[in-house]
Amino acid sequence: MLDDLLSSSLEARIASPIPGTYALVLQSRADTSVQIGRCGTLLIQPGFYVYVGSALGPGGLRARLTHHLRQPARLHWHIDHLRRRATVVAAWYRFGRARREHTWAKLLRDTTGSSIPLPGFGSSDCKCPSHLFYFSTLPILHLRGAELLDTADLIGSGTS
Ligand SMILES: [Zn+2]
Repeated sequence: MLDDLLSSSLEARIASPIPGTYALVLQSRADTSVQIGRCGTLLIQPGFYVYVGSALGPGGLRARLTHHLRQPARLHWHIDHLRRRATVVAAWYRFGRARREHTWAKLLRDTTGSSIPLPGFGSSDCKCPSHLFYFSTLPILHLRGAELLDTADLIGSGTS
């Protein structure tokens, strides 16, 4: 399974459960829609979706990114619903206890080509308009201090 290969490569790359902030880049090739709890209906278009979150719990970034790379068995977060219909193509991450997700959400909002597909997505507990952003083409992100995990890299490192 590709998902299993990706997550075992990720575990090799992030050796211990360190907390941090991440931005997940997903690609959709279809026109579809999904109900996101009380937020409403997310219309999914072909293109790229970037979701920001933080993983400050015991499993840290490793456990959270592993969760996102695999198809979720149970739908716990808003992003799990989108994940069922889109492929993870990359993830940016930065280690540290600081909650950078809101700053990153602001940066994504200000990035050229960005739009908010569903207000309130992933941001029910904060004041951000959304933690999910849509781009018709792959965005160039400038997240200071963040490392990029490209799924092509993961496949490469998993087979070498
Ligand atoms: Zn926020």
